Amino acid sequence: MTLRLYDTRAQQLRDFVPLDSENVTMYVCGPTVQSGPHIGHVRAALSFDLLRRWLTHRFSRVTFVRNVTDIDDKVLLNATDAEPWWALAYRMEQQFTAAYAGVGILAPTYEPRATASIPQMQELIQTLIERGHAYPAPDGSGDVYFDVRSWPEYGALTHQSVDAMEAAEDADPRGKRNPQDFALWKGSKPDEPADAIWASPWGAGRPGWHIECSAMARRYLGSEFDIHGGGLDLRFPHHENELAQSTAAGEGFARYWVHNGLVTVDGQKMSKSLGNFTLAADVLAAHDPLVVRYALAAAHYRSSLDLTESSWTEADAALGRIHSFVERAGRAVERNGTRRRGRDSDDEAVEYIPLIPEEFASSMDDDLGVPQALAVVHDRVRRGNQALDDGDDAAAERAWYEVRAMIGVLGLDEAPLAAGGTGAEASALDALVQTMITQRAQARADKDWATADRIRDAIAAAGIALEDTADGTHWSIDG
Ligand SMILES: [Zn+2]
Repeated sequence: MTLRLYDTRAQQLRDFVPLDSENVTMYVCGPTVQSGPHIGHVRAALSFDLLRRWLTHRFSRVTFVRNVTDIDDKVLLNATDAEPWWALAYRMEQQFTAAYAGVGILAPTYEPRATASIPQMQELIQTLIERGHAYPAPDGSGDVYFDVRSWPEYGALTHQSVDAMEAAEDADPRGKRNPQDFALWKGSKPDEPADAIWASPWGAGRPGWHIECSAMARRYLGSEFDIHGGGLDLRFPHHENELAQSTAAGEGFARYWVHNGLVTVDGQKMSKSLGNFTLAADVLAAHDPLVVRYALAAAHYRSSLDLTESSWTEADAALGRIHSFVERAGRAVERNGTRRRGRDSDDEAVEYIPLIPEEFASSMDDDLGVPQALAVVHDRVRRGNQALDDGDDAAAERAWYEVRAMIGVLGLDEAPLAAGGTGAEASALDALVQTMITQRAQARADKDWATADRIRDAIAAAGIALEDTADGTHWSIDG
């Protein structure tokens, strides 16, 4: 079966066919680092982490870009004399990184900060001016606007006509031709900090939010890439504007637009005034990180997710059932392995065979149906427990492999690194072990068994356990 994804632009499910089947390319809008993450930010990032993991399972490689918007009106607004905008932006970026890592969201392949791609943004703006789709404000303010009336396809993503659209909410518009025109470049204002201003052909200033993503996507993924992701709330104006800018500049841009649903708390939109604003850090302090991951993953990514106290207790119970089975069946698997090795002392330890059940794969292929995929996990847990009760170790062993393969793909198999843990040491160790894993894989590919065994033994002697799974070899400290 082919993977199908709901494409917002096409307003229907489409077969997913990447430009390059050996390298799927994905751009997901990252946070504007004006304040710390709430649980909705984590759900959004997790939706695309699950998609990325499944794409990695289906295709050999995924290049995943998630940006950091570190310059924006809101970042400047929240800065203080004691904490300049760039210090605030970095502190908040670290909070996002910790929350993402806290629930096991994989680090992006590239994580560009907007302030590091200003020349690329200016280049794109210049192209738009030359093509007649953007204009510097005639009042000399330094503002540059995208001319929506010059681009007949404006509105293609959200299927709106320009006349029906709200005006772009650029504060203090200076010299706009149409109310819907939006700022590509914002001329500096006297009250803005001097270090938030960059020189440009149109006057000193800083980029508008939308152009940042268009420029970073092109820089890191090329003029056309497979998937653009983000929350439903970003469809308009942000993604509509990104699409218009990039296509008007002559680029193919995103081929599939994927949007995740939003989070409500106790049936209501999160807001500070309602007192239900749920910070990611508070949730992660109160619950096991894998329970949080499970609770946020359990609803389909496109549906809105309502969090209540029972979300956590239900996720805790469901995850507990899975992990108790894995532990219980693991003991039976060990008994079986011992028996097998006893029969033939030359026999290598039984190779790990990743077994993703067909129903699981087809659920994931059907627009990332994680709720249905989790139902398959629980079905195998039930069957496996029954097999153990019946003394059928072979059936239990098969269920154990299946369950471990499935929860491995969903990232529910091991506790994520504690946020703010021993980052430098962990990453140094990881780099070393990954090098040895690659060398071992190469030796095996070359059928150089002696070398492969020597590397495996050296890793084992250091107290590190290897596990070959569907999405590659993982390692852990053998405790
Ligand atoms: Zn964006």
